[in-house]
Amino acid sequence: MSDARSENLSENTSDDTGETSYKNTGDNTGDHTNKSASNNTSDNISDNQSPIIDFAHSRKTQLQKHDHLVRGVAADGMIRAIAMSGRETVEAAHANHNTSPVVSAALGRTMMAAQMMAAMFKSPDELLTLQIKGDGPIRAITVTANNLGHVKGFAAYPNVWLPLNDKGKLDVGTGIGKGTLTVIRDLPGTTPYSSQTELVSGEIGDDLAAYFTLSDQTPTSVGVGVLVNPDTTIRQAGGFIVQLMPDYEPYIVDDLEKKLESIRSVTQMLEDGMTPHDILQHILGEFEYKELEVSPAAFHCGCNKERASRATLALGSDVIRDMISQGETAEVHCHFCGKDHRLSPAELQELLDSSERL
Ligand SMILES: [Zn+2]
Repeated sequence: MSDARSENLSENTSDDTGETSYKNTGDNTGDHTNKSASNNTSDNISDNQSPIIDFAHSRKTQLQKHDHLVRGVAADGMIRAIAMSGRETVEAAHANHNTSPVVSAALGRTMMAAQMMAAMFKSPDELLTLQIKGDGPIRAITVTANNLGHVKGFAAYPNVWLPLNDKGKLDVGTGIGKGTLTVIRDLPGTTPYSSQTELVSGEIGDDLAAYFTLSDQTPTSVGVGVLVNPDTTIRQAGGFIVQLMPDYEPYIVDDLEKKLESIRSVTQMLEDGMTPHDILQHILGEFEYKELEVSPAAFHCGCNKERASRATLALGSDVIRDMISQGETAEVHCHFCGKDHRLSPAELQELLDSSERL
């Protein structure tokens, strides 16, 4: 069972009505029984006028306005599923790295797959890294995610331009080419787990599905998609992972495969205004789908000046002294978010002094 959804470059003009209606779906107007529950949870806490504010519902409504993940189960727990919206996440990567459309799609698909996979982890300290290496012009993609919905990532060559493929879609498969996918799980205090599989198509969704099925022995369908506006900003991004749990009964497989074959691409569903909740409901509605959790998702890089300082110290005090005497500023580039952290000669001196005091 594998289902990689590919995405097209929007052939429309920059009309983005689809996106607007998608964003608005988080504004739930029908369910609230009092005016104060509708928008601002924090104001309502001190207000305390109504005993029937549904905070859980209000939080969910807030979450649905931005990128978020939705987790659920179906068929008495035989199916586990997760879906997400990721337009802001992929747009952050596009803005940070100035990615071309095909790289936005390749990197975005990989980031969202990682976010959904890491969301299944129990510990927020566990990190998931996906490394894709191929012989195509993008060469390599590296992303890291945790179960807080945070992801960061970069492509070796962010500015690759390719013609659309024969289906009129962004040609991620050619951009990546033939190569390997490495999945690394790293929980501090334990031995990191790493597993490598051959890429099936370089389209990312297929490749992740193959990893789950072959390496993890879990029949899995992965759909991830990014739709890019003509001005190269991100119009839509999202995905889903649907997995069979070890105790599944065989009849489920056929029914689920039939259903997955019948659905539209993720980006088409998003264009139609569907939320991650709607997507899972659409795929698994006939399997008694139950939603368990809604949580935020975002591009997030934990780099800062302190880490940059530590990296600079690793150059050794002789190198740093040299830089100070030449009046040079040290520049530490973060590959994951594209940020440059600068340390002036005075800051370098301070860094040396403080390290020598240790
Ligand atoms: Zn960074």
